[in-house]
Amino acid sequence: MLVFGLLAGFERNARLTDLTAESDRLHAVASQRVDQHDAHLTALSAIAVAGAEQRPDLFREVAGAIMRFYPRIIGISLVPLDGDDGELEIGVREADLRELIRAAADRSTGTPVLVRYPSDRPAYLIVKRSPNSEAARYGLGLVIDAAALLHGDSDYWTRAEATRWLALPDGTALIGVAGDLYAPHFSRALSSDTQPLELKTAIRMTISDILPPGRVAFVMAVIALGAMALRVIGRQRVKVRAAEARAELSGLETRLSHASRVNALGEMASGMAHELTQPLTAILAQAQAARHLAARGDMNRVAEILEDVVGQTRRAGAILERLRTWTRPRERNAESIDLRDCIRVAETLLAGQAQELGARLTLTLPPTPLTVEGDRVELEQVLFNLIRNALDAVAESAGAREVAIEASRDGAMAVIDVSDTGPGIRPDVRDRLFTPFFTTRESGTGLGLALSHRLVERAGGDLTVVEAREGARFRISLPLARTTRRAAE
Ligand code: ADP
Repeated sequence: MLVFGLLAGFERNARLTDLTAESDRLHAVASQRVDQHDAHLTALSAIAVAGAEQRPDLFREVAGAIMRFYPRIIGISLVPLDGDDGELEIGVREADLRELIRAAADRSTGTPVLVRYPSDRPAYLIVKRSPNSEAARYGLGLVIDAAALLHGDSDYWTRAEATRWLALPDGTALIGVAGDLYAPHFSRALSSDTQPLELKTAIRMTISDILPPGRVAFVMAVIALGAMALRVIGRQRVKVRAAEARAELSGLETRLSHASRVNALGEMASGMAHELTQPLTAILAQAQAARHLAARGDMNRVAEILEDVVGQTRRAGAILERLRTWTRPRERNAESIDLRDCIRVAETLLAGQAQELGARLTLTLPPTPLTVEGDRVELEQVLFNLIRNALDAVAESAGAREVAIEASRDGAMAVIDVSDTGPGIRPDVRDRLFTPFFTTRESGTGLGLALSHRLVERAGGDLTVVEAREGARFRISLPLARTTRRAAE
């Protein structure tokens, strides 16, 4: 609607501008032409005064020449004011002009008098006294065809929607009847002292004029095409944005995963050093004892000790192996896993750290396997992150430092709760816990929970915070593998 309003307004303005320009031109031409009539009147009057009666042929000749040269002058009459004889009429003879010219000449006080030519023609008479004084002997009249007066080389006025009106200064219509159809847009008297004829013009502006069906159709087509183009562009943009978002997400995920692993690795290193010290110290002590016993030839005891060394070495190997599997770039691998094993692995890796903090790690595990489908390393990481967070939390607590890991079965789900006796989760961070890079810890990365959440979801489960009487309690829920479920049923 707005577009058509604008279009109509634009069209209307354009039409008015055209009309004004054409009207100005017409006004200038017509003004110039009527001025010429004054000159003709003066010339003819001079001839008349000089002896029209003696030389009517001269008057006729000049008048004839004027009319040939200026076709809009369709008649010239010279009427003696004091008698019936000596009248000279050249050109039109549709009407008896004698009385009309006499009356007009009588009325004249110097300036020529304008009278409607009494005929169907759109013509007027301009009557002048000759000589132009009280002693006038003749009335001299020119019959001017108003249509020819306005005739020009512009096609503009041949258009059906363009209208012109011309009237005598007293309002007598010559061409058109002003105000018969619509109000004029242009109205100005011709710039002439003797013939200030009123020129008016208008341009019709109906809805179909200012909103031509062709243009409306064109504009509608343009709008439709524009809308279609916008839709296509819009859809393209949505696609591009979605692709960008996906790329960003997967990029973020990769970074997250890697950063978390690197981070976990760093944190693990201290715990691991601790863990490895134990078997290595044991191995060293036992190796020394074995050397001693070997020197004494007590081979039975040596064999026993070596058995122990093998066990300790295996344990150290297992710890190192875990480190390797965590850091090696690897394909995700879904398999049946007993969550109890994952919990034990995480506990093994963090036991040293717990010991250092003086924190107690308690495991409550069901007697039967708690099997889920998932990636072992990923789930171990989740547990590691939760237990590490719990240890960080209890490290702040002055009271009992307890971290409990309880695994159980709840219908078709395996549930693992990791709770601690730390200060609990601050209410203002609760909503942002799983947002990547959100951390309240100075050396934190804010990746642990975000990644854990993602990994648990990837295994078809959920990671949530649950209400706890004290400290914080995180809950991992994972769908049990079908076999376990059936066994449970
Ligand atoms: P980071 O440990 O690097 O800060 P996380 O994503 O693991 O990153 O944890 C985000 C934030 O969640 C922590 O900075 C901490 O404020 C809060 N949080 C996590 N675990 C606990 C918990 N057991 N007790 C209290 N607050 C916790």
